[in-house]
Amino acid sequence: ERKRRLSDIQFFRAQYRVALRNCGLINPEDITEYIACEGYFALADVLLNWTPAQVVDAIKQSGLRGRGGAGFPTGRKWELAAVAEGPVKYVVCNADEGDPGAFMDRSILEGDPHSVLEAMAIAGYAIGAREGYIYVRAEYPIAVDRLERAIAQARQYGLLGRRIFNTNFDFDIDLRLGAGAFVCGEETALLRSAVGERGEPRPRPPYPAQCGLWGKPTLLNNVETYANVPVIIREGPAWFASLGTENSRGTKVFSLAGKVLNTGLIEVPMGTTLRTVVFDIGGGIPEGRQFKAVQTGGPSGGCIPERYLDTPIDYESLKQLGSMMGSGGMIVLDETDCIVDIAKFYLQFSQDESCGQCTPCRVGTKRMLEILERITLGQGQMGDLNELEELSREVMDASLCGLGQTAPNPVLSTLKYFRDEYEAHIRDKRCPAGVCRALLDY
Ligand code: SF4
Repeated sequence: ERKRRLSDIQFFRAQYRVALRNCGLINPEDITEYIACEGYFALADVLLNWTPAQVVDAIKQSGLRGRGGAGFPTGRKWELAAVAEGPVKYVVCNADEGDPGAFMDRSILEGDPHSVLEAMAIAGYAIGAREGYIYVRAEYPIAVDRLERAIAQARQYGLLGRRIFNTNFDFDIDLRLGAGAFVCGEETALLRSAVGERGEPRPRPPYPAQCGLWGKPTLLNNVETYANVPVIIREGPAWFASLGTENSRGTKVFSLAGKVLNTGLIEVPMGTTLRTVVFDIGGGIPEGRQFKAVQTGGPSGGCIPERYLDTPIDYESLKQLGSMMGSGGMIVLDETDCIVDIAKFYLQFSQDESCGQCTPCRVGTKRMLEILERITLGQGQMGDLNELEELSREVMDASLCGLGQTAPNPVLSTLKYFRDEYEAHIRDKRCPAGVCRALLDY
């Protein structure tokens, strides 16, 4: 009945909620409400009836891929951690969400914290770990508070701690608070920061599955990835794999923001088109203005123009367009947004958040930012556009981690699809959107 009522509302009609299944519907501070929605049933089932290898196999068969951005097959990651040698292993949850305009993980942690705890316990059983850590931003105080309550209640109910469901399986979870550095969302930086070291990425290999927390094999997934796991176990991997597209199974959560009538958290099956998200769920552009682009993937992604609105959302198709799935930020731009200014905003973000340990990222993004600054001030030259492209390639090729490797994407995608706007700034000293104030005086 509740689902039927929601489907009457346009905002929910094209949505399908798996990771967000309980958010807004249960009291996240009361474990009994989670249990009443079949919470911890999956954990009981695997502990009593499954072997660890069967759990790993189910995650592989489901086709689940990492929802943090890179889209690595989750089952493969679990398998690598399961076969890694050593009596001590760890399960870690990456809750260091930091993209501008992204609040998917925060909403799951605040609205359904037990789904993550249950998944981490299942992962612990699957790979042979007894301890888990959630690395969560300290700037998410409600999420931190609800996680602490959820962990305490799960311990009280015997769902964390010793001999869970009277089996030989022990598993407990603790929190690690991040101090707000975006780069700590990168897995190797996160693992360093979680043990008290400076949060800087390191070269891979070795991968966390071989050498993670305190040098031990570690399984690391993000919040949304874990939130899918209990449902995959309960409903079966075939059910999950039946959602989405051939290479991107299941659903994806996005925080829909910017110039649309209905903003907020949405979850859609993979393969849903960008047009459905912007115009059906989002309700279109306010006040009759023209759609200009949709930015997916935050500072790692790109701006997608109107002619590609019928693109189905999945990892590969967004990449082909020069953007990325990313963790799920989706910002809609209209005719009053200046595309050069948007590229500058995202590059400024990456520049600010660069840890600075490698020169192409630290200095290359700074040089690119100076060029964009000049263009928005009306001091650009046509040769700047080629220089931006060359610098982009160098930064992408020579940076150590994903932050630097993807930082030029907003610049490259806007140069590809909106070069005329850059040229208008340089040649005509005109900002087509009327945003760059320095150009209004020309
Ligand atoms: Fe740090 Fe940038 Fe190098 Fe990543 S690419 S390690 S953020 S300097």
